[in-house]
Amino acid sequence: MHSWEDPYIRNFFTRKIMEWASLNLRQFSWRSDRNSYRVFIAEFLLQRTKSSQVAAVYPKFISKFPTEDAFKSATSEDFELLLKNLGLIKRIDYLLEIQKKMKASKFSFETIKPMEILGWPGVGNYTLSAFRCFARGERISLVDVNVIRVISRFFHFVSSKERPRNDPLFWKFADELLPDDNWDIYNYALIDFGSMVCVQKNPKCFSCILKDECSEYKEECSSNKVRK
Ligand code: SF4
Repeated sequence: MHSWEDPYIRNFFTRKIMEWASLNLRQFSWRSDRNSYRVFIAEFLLQRTKSSQVAAVYPKFISKFPTEDAFKSATSEDFELLLKNLGLIKRIDYLLEIQKKMKASKFSFETIKPMEILGWPGVGNYTLSAFRCFARGERISLVDVNVIRVISRFFHFVSSKERPRNDPLFWKFADELLPDDNWDIYNYALIDFGSMVCVQKNPKCFSCILKDECSEYKEECSSNKVRK
């Protein structure tokens, strides 16, 4: 039986990630706010951008535009001023396009069907899933590069797709690992674990709470290439 099929290994993974979360979860202001508009803005800004960079911008953005009505009144200069140090400059055009869509209809982030935001400028499956999980409380996984790396290494779960984040089977497997409750915390934890412990280069295997059952670690051990 492959490790990703073994219920014990699956439970071990989810349980350990939740234990790790209770001590190590990073605190960001958007993580304690379930307002749909503000969840959307946070996830939009986090696209391909480090959380630490967003942490420097998000509070200013929300202080200036705390509601979607305030957001609708923003000018392109406002967005440029707030986002100029965040990179991905096309993000400003995307926000203006989103603002236009919001103005053109009786729009509310609180009542919109989540699927309706898919395909908006800059909004793909990941942002949609984050919106569904954090704004709507849906039990749904998030699959980004960090999550892919942790799951791939731990389970040796290899996607047949060139880009696993576009692989429905990977998303399905990630969904199956979700805990029965507090899945929002679990999702944050997996993201943090991938950016703090199971990092791209020199993962901290020696002190990792998953190492006893980690396929990658066991393989490295057996070939005497233990990562410290
Ligand atoms: S033991 Fe190493 S490879 Fe395995 S999950 Fe932990 S950090 Fe990642």
